[in-house]
Amino acid sequence: MATDYDAPRKTDDEISEDSIEELKNRRIDKSSGIVDVDESELAESLELPGADLSNEELAVRVLPRQADEFTCSRCFLVHHRSQLAKEERGQFICRDCAA
Ligand SMILES: [Zn+2]
Repeated sequence: MATDYDAPRKTDDEISEDSIEELKNRRIDKSSGIVDVDESELAESLELPGADLSNEELAVRVLPRQADEFTCSRCFLVHHRSQLAKEERGQFICRDCAA
């Protein structure tokens, strides 16, 4: 019994310690690698297809881009007008920040 009980415990400890250290190492590796890749990939994927589609649609419907959106004065994210919670002295606050 004692042997059986000890064996899985040791294994668990070893596994958890190993996996934690592995995760730490992988995190560092991944995050440092992803930052470089993400910036270039995001920039390309956002600009190229997004610009083409929105240009065509906006030209037909004549919707100025900024009239639909506002920049939250707290989180500084651009939200659609439907996410506007309140406006204070010309500063817009989104629903997330107002909640
Ligand atoms: Zn906000």
